[in-house]
Amino acid sequence: MSDRRMPAAFIGHGSPMNTLEHNRFTDAWSELAASSPRPRAVLVVSAHWFVGTSAVTAMEHPRTIHDFFGFPEELFSFQYPCVGDPELAQWVADLARPGWVGLDHDSWGIDHGAWSVLAHMYPAADVPVVQLSVHAGEPADYHLALGALLSPLRDDGVLVVASGNVVHNLRRVDFSRPDDGEDWARRFDDAVRQAVTTDPASVAAMAGHPDYRAAVPTPDHFFPLLYLAGMAQAGGEPVRVLVEGCAYSSLSMTSYTLGTD
Ligand code: ZN
Repeated sequence: MSDRRMPAAFIGHGSPMNTLEHNRFTDAWSELAASSPRPRAVLVVSAHWFVGTSAVTAMEHPRTIHDFFGFPEELFSFQYPCVGDPELAQWVADLARPGWVGLDHDSWGIDHGAWSVLAHMYPAADVPVVQLSVHAGEPADYHLALGALLSPLRDDGVLVVASGNVVHNLRRVDFSRPDDGEDWARRFDDAVRQAVTTDPASVAAMAGHPDYRAAVPTPDHFFPLLYLAGMAQAGGEPVRVLVEGCAYSSLSMTSYTLGTD
């Protein structure tokens, strides 16, 4: 046990190009790592591993997954050569019991939901990383509850990073508006901020919001926030805004933390 509980975060990761770029969002990710105790490992809940089960990467050397199309070659050649942490993967599976989290030994790896953020937080890739999938077949309450069960990790030097986007509608992206959001996107982002910073568990009920269908056409990028909300609820800690704003009309880049000053 370390003497200090590790922070946890929900990061709005946006475009894969954020891996290579520097902007006010990526600066906030770097500053979060710089101002946090050095973790012994990072667990990343990634929107980009949206599959029909909860699973964790359990290999010693997870490969770098390039799960996108139509971006520059520099992004396809990007490598994030971190090591894994099979013991941590097993601990995640144990914490989830009696629920099921499978140990993935050879299927997935570290996808860009994780490495686009980790490239800024730990650019040397010198912290072990385990990735947790987002179960596509389960409702919001499942993800909230699993997040709460992961809380003990924070007391043993593990930094939990949930990576998604509160608003994520790729059909409505407008590349001419890199630093702005449509009214509905900003409304939904504001409503989520209000919910998660006052009553974290209430974000599990955001499907009732009138802008939910536009903001969350599929839940892959939204559900990671529920892991942070679950940890906040379990620890009775306030959720803080790390950085906020929309990009390309239909993405929210807003990020949240727990356990930071
Ligand atoms: Zn994404």
